[in-house]
Amino acid sequence: MKEEKENILLESEDTNEKFDCFEDDYGISFEELAEADFAPHIKKRGEDYYFEDRVLDCIKVGDTYYAKVEGSHDNIYSVIIHNIDDEFLEYECTCPCDFPCKHEYATVLAIEEGNYREPDLKPIISYNHLTIKEVLKKIPAEDLKETLIANAKDEYLEIDAHFLEDNFLKYLPKQSYEYYYNNLYNDIVLDHCYDENISIYLNVARKYLKIGEYYDAFIICKSIIEGMHDAGVFEEENSSNLVLKLGVYLRNICRNNSEILKNEDFVNWLKWLKDNNYYDSMYLEDTILNLKKVIFTLDNEFL
Ligand SMILES: [Zn+2]
Repeated sequence: MKEEKENILLESEDTNEKFDCFEDDYGISFEELAEADFAPHIKKRGEDYYFEDRVLDCIKVGDTYYAKVEGSHDNIYSVIIHNIDDEFLEYECTCPCDFPCKHEYATVLAIEEGNYREPDLKPIISYNHLTIKEVLKKIPAEDLKETLIANAKDEYLEIDAHFLEDNFLKYLPKQSYEYYYNNLYNDIVLDHCYDENISIYLNVARKYLKIGEYYDAFIICKSIIEGMHDAGVFEEENSSNLVLKLGVYLRNICRNNSEILKNEDFVNWLKWLKDNNYYDSMYLEDTILNLKKVIFTLDNEFL
C-alpha cells in the first residue's frame, strides 16, 4: 500500500495525468468526480490525512462507500460517499464541518486507489409498515377513544409513529426474524451505529413483552445473539449489560409463555446456543440452566 501511494505521488507530480487503473467504465476517475467539490486547502489536508494512513477502513456497498477516518484528538469520524450514476458524489461526515471536509477527501483518495473492501452482506429487508391512517383504521373504536382521551393535553394531542408503537403495538405489522437479523448483521459488518440499532431492538422487545407478544420478543433476542455471533462480535459482549438484559428477557419470555418451550424454533435455538458454547456466558448461563430444567420435564432429550 505504501508503494502504491508513492507511485501515485510520483505520477501526479511528474505527469499530472489521471491514472488509467482508477478510471471507471466512463473514463472518469473518482478523484475527477470529486475535483470541484473541495477547496484546495481542504484537498491538501485530506491528502495529508490519506498519506498518514488515517483512513482506517473503507467499505463499498453498491454505489456507496463507508469509511472510518481518524481525525484530530483521536476522534474517529464516519464518512459516507454515494456515487450517483457516476455523475456526481454526495458526502456525509460525522465531524462538525458543514462543508466538504478533509475526512471526505481522504476517503476519496482511498477509493481512488482501490483501498476499500466489499464484504458479503445479507439482503436488505425493508421495514414492514402501515401509514398512520391505515393503523388507525385497524384499531377498535373504543380502544382508540380511550387511549386518545388518556393522552390528550388541554390544547393538543400529538400522534406519531412512536405514539402508535407505545399504545397500539399489537395492531402494527410485525417484522420478520430476517428483518431484525439481516439489518443488524449488515450494520455490524459496516460498523454503522449498530449499538443504536440493538437499543432500538431491545426497546421493541420490551414493548412486546409488556403486551404479551412473547414470540416476537423471542425472535428479536434471537436475532441479536445470532447476528452478533455471525458477524463475530458476540464474544466481546459475553459479560456485558446487553447479555444480562437478553438473559432477563429470555427468562421473562419462558416464565410467561411455557408453550414457547415446545416451539421447534425455540428448542433448536437452545441447541444452537449449546453448540456455540454460549452456556458458558456468565449471564446467559443462569437463564439457560433454568430453561433446561423446564425442558427436561417436557421430555426433550437433546439438551
Ligand atoms: Zn469530516
